[in-house]
Amino acid sequence: MINLSRTVTEGAPLVAEIERRSGQRVSACLQCGRCTSTCVAAHAFDFPPHRLMHMLQIGLVQEVLASRTAQLCLDCMTCSMRCPMKIDVAGVIETAKAVADEAGLRDTERDLRLFRREFLRNVRRHGRLHETSMLLRYNFATRKLTNDISLVPLILRKRKVHLFPPKVKNLRQMRRIFREINGDARPAPEPETGAGE
Ligand code: SF4
Ligand code: SF4
Repeated sequence: MINLSRTVTEGAPLVAEIERRSGQRVSACLQCGRCTSTCVAAHAFDFPPHRLMHMLQIGLVQEVLASRTAQLCLDCMTCSMRCPMKIDVAGVIETAKAVADEAGLRDTERDLRLFRREFLRNVRRHGRLHETSMLLRYNFATRKLTNDISLVPLILRKRKVHLFPPKVKNLRQMRRIFREINGDARPAPEPETGAGE
């Protein structure tokens, strides 16, 4: 259970920083939900915009900074234009991202490098991307084993990805291309994760 007074107190300095830099008052949010209902990317978020605002109000800043919402927000400003309280929601999210980066709280860079590494290894191994094994290896490398696990039934039902790797004719040729690009048989080494090939 969340200890509300503790999270508000602990999160207050970072919330104040986000408010100061964005020029917005998080506390003015009415929780009407209009920002969420107009957000084009809400389906891909873990927390819709109005919930993100509420999380800031109650001091759950770390969760906001680490959220998929903060990573995936398109900064399209639709939410900001629709807010009845004239809160620049997109600006709040953008500022949260910047604060997180400066404080070293987001591991985006490392995760992006890992994503790229696993992507390239997967293409080299199979000749084209095999999403299932790539995502499993990426989750393992980032130590987020259950990341997006709830989407698996939906993905399988829609047949967007396949359980087994594709059969590709010119696999040798693909590997030769990788060798020529990298100067050796393997993609360049990337950050330490404990998840070797
Ligand atoms: S539209 Fe504005 S007031 Fe309504 S929930 Fe979103 S941020 Fe809060
Ligand atoms: S700025 Fe971000 S949160 Fe706002 S509507 Fe666009 S994608 Fe959604």
